Amino acid sequence: LFETLQQHDRDSTAIVHSLSGRSFTYGSLLHDVAAAKKRLLEHTKRDEATIVGERVAFLIENSYDYVVTLLSVLASNAIAVPLAPSFPPSELRYILNHSEALTLLSSAKYGSLASEVLQDGLDKPVMSTQVEKILENTQSGQVELVGDSYTAEGGMMLYTSGTTARPKGVLLHQLVLIAQAKSLLQAWDYSKNDRLLHVLPLHHIHGTVNGLLAPLLAGSTVEMMFPFTPDAVWSRFAAPFLSTEGLDLPARDQTVQQHESASGLREQPGQPRQPPITLFTVVPTIWARLQQSFPSLPPDIQSAAKQAIQRQHLRLNISGSAALPTPTKKAWTDLSSGNVLLERFGMTEVGMALSCGLENSDRIDGAVGWPLPSVEARLVDSDTHEVISPAHALDVEIAADGAPERSGEIQLRGPTIFKGYWRNPEATAKEFTHDGWFKTGDIAVRRHVPGAGLGKSGEWAKGPAFFILGRKSADIIKTGGEKVSALEIEREMLSLPQVAECAVVGLPSETWGQKVAAVVVLSEEGKSAGKGGKAWGAMDMRRALKGRLVAYKIPQDLKVVEEIPRNAMGKVNKKELVGLVFGDGE
Ligand code: ATP
Ligand code: MG
Repeated sequence: LFETLQQHDRDSTAIVHSLSGRSFTYGSLLHDVAAAKKRLLEHTKRDEATIVGERVAFLIENSYDYVVTLLSVLASNAIAVPLAPSFPPSELRYILNHSEALTLLSSAKYGSLASEVLQDGLDKPVMSTQVEKILENTQSGQVELVGDSYTAEGGMMLYTSGTTARPKGVLLHQLVLIAQAKSLLQAWDYSKNDRLLHVLPLHHIHGTVNGLLAPLLAGSTVEMMFPFTPDAVWSRFAAPFLSTEGLDLPARDQTVQQHESASGLREQPGQPRQPPITLFTVVPTIWARLQQSFPSLPPDIQSAAKQAIQRQHLRLNISGSAALPTPTKKAWTDLSSGNVLLERFGMTEVGMALSCGLENSDRIDGAVGWPLPSVEARLVDSDTHEVISPAHALDVEIAADGAPERSGEIQLRGPTIFKGYWRNPEATAKEFTHDGWFKTGDIAVRRHVPGAGLGKSGEWAKGPAFFILGRKSADIIKTGGEKVSALEIEREMLSLPQVAECAVVGLPSETWGQKVAAVVVLSEEGKSAGKGGKAWGAMDMRRALKGRLVAYKIPQDLKVVEEIPRNAMGKVNKKELVGLVFGDGE
């Protein structure tokens, strides 16, 4: 890791605070990491040998300080445990206890949260300090760079999103993290010319590996926007493309001026132009929020932003962590004049595993593409354990046209896969096969798509593409002897103009085993689309889906809600949703 970082031009920019414009070079980053490592050892009263494998937890907002802290823990061969400031103290305490953290470092912003967390309920005492004390750099002038001396034990511990159960501690060793990042560099061509706008939480794999470690390994610039709002993102996209003409004219439209000063992003004459953003990777809910806020932007920001998100500037626009609704994807294609969103599939335990390709023709609707470089993927029948497709995409014998498609669990192998859950050998044993394949719990099918998977995006993007059907535990509904994918039904529901958001679930049914039910948020149109101007209802839904889905896939129940609860990564906990919407009796 550090050997690669040292090869970058020391004067090139590593991190930028997007809202203030403060920037930090690779040279200062490496220098500050070396200094922070020393202070971390002093603070924890450990030495190079005894810090190895110790868990260092931290609560810091997305910032340069965050990056220095994370890298200094990695440089010490300790295990970084980044905590989510949005979690309630009880959850944070659970993670501190579960990870058996040696210390908790907190930024000034989260000092009082940290004190609250440390107040009581801890199994063992946890040291703590303000991270500013660790980052205080007293060795000014003396240039020291941190070197590579990793041992097998160090790395990072991320907790899963907790969508299906209590979050699990996933230990990702430094070599695994590097393998994950390198696989992305190879597939997605991150380079020193890239500038990534970072708005994601940093306690998940998406924000950490895709949004931070991979671009740093490539020598790119990571611009952190914290806190982020859709309007500020649009203003930042637009900034390099706004005409500076007329900036000194006092007669500018007042709402435009207010918007500019609120976001702090309008450049002043004489200041260097901000470079265009070339990489943006977020979750489906953020893509949807951006689209919702677009119409209320001032007209000149709108037209500059439209230019900024075209393919020749925003080189890669990536979506993942949950299924991307096709209408969201299509709306973005329209807004950006053809810059199709690239969807990929990943999880905490494996980093990114499957991805669509760089070529637009390899960004297939509803698909997550092909196994990324160095990832081996196969589908295994959940009932019979039979391997449906062999490891290598090109050898796959896919059923001939007309034969029923076979779905199966995605299983993965390779250097990007974690080695085990923290202090949970039972779960680890359960989730790996005897020959080392990790069972993702996600069900998929593979389909040949005409014009795609021909290797145009790279050797890895070849053959039949993977289509995710959902989680075995929550999205595969067994009704009347048929297996139904909740994701597939959600896709159809979302293509109806009356439906703004949708989650499909299985409810227990005496007749069918399970029956299909839909929870929806109506669009403005849907609120008066029913008979006599009433809200769109179950009958309307059945009529609309007839002919689009076979009868047993059409939801038998419909519940209209104001909002579908989602976690920070835009995921729906379906078990909780069923309890909330249908009660435990149904
Ligand atoms: P927990 O394991 O605690 O229940 P989680 O599985 O949601 O939580 P993560 O590791 O953050 O925790 O998420 C991985 C899961 O996210 C995958 O197993 C998959 O179900 C889902 N996922 C990720 N990307 C996609 C995608 N592009 N389409 C559909 N689902 C996706
Ligand atoms: Mg999971």
